[in-house]
Amino acid sequence: MALGDIQADMARILAEAGRAPDAANLIAVSKVQPNARVKAVLDAGHRIFGENRVQEAQGKWPDFKAQFEGIVLHLIGPLQSNKVRPAMELFDAIHTVDREKLARRIADMAQELGRCPDLFIQVNTGAEPQKAGILPSEADEFVKTVRAMDLPLKGLMCIPPVEEEPSLHFALLAKLAARNGLQGLSMGMSADYETALRLGATHIRVGSAIFGERVAPQA
Ligand SMILES: *Cc1c(COP(=O)(O)O)cnc(C)c1O
Repeated sequence: MALGDIQADMARILAEAGRAPDAANLIAVSKVQPNARVKAVLDAGHRIFGENRVQEAQGKWPDFKAQFEGIVLHLIGPLQSNKVRPAMELFDAIHTVDREKLARRIADMAQELGRCPDLFIQVNTGAEPQKAGILPSEADEFVKTVRAMDLPLKGLMCIPPVEEEPSLHFALLAKLAARNGLQGLSMGMSADYETALRLGATHIRVGSAIFGERVAPQA
């Protein structure tokens, strides 16, 4: 199975980059994958997973959580305000905080639930109109806004434009995080996780390289 290959590759890259073996987390992105493939990765001992839709995750993870101890779930797709409650009930981390209204809703719900997932701010490093995330120029201000709400902000996340060299985007994200005193860097996918790890990624989000091609690609 490809999971072992990716883990070995990660270990090699981290060592070459002079980073600690546990400096980065592998998030296995299981969106749209058949349950049998997800179960195989769970059976292999992996516990950190990512999903990009709350509703889809609600359909499969409660059962897996009942069967396997220690599952850690990351929401890596856009979050609508009306899905904040179920998202916070199911996920351990949310990578896509990108507007004040959403942050406020999360803060209110954290009061109500008495807990809050780890949060990442999504930055639209390529300033693509169709993509979620705050603009790089707004990042410092938005970090302040989220911190003022006393939320557990861990880092920044980006998805570089498909056609561009990802290293420029990863370096920009790393710079924005460093100057705001944030440790977490959610960046790197199947095609570019090596570059991301070399530039300091603490969370890589790898789907197809672990599970194989997605059976039904999402819109
Ligand atoms: C689907 C997805 C991934 C994983 O993509 P692969 O290319 O299959 O590794 C990573 N991040 C986000 C935000 C995604 O939606």
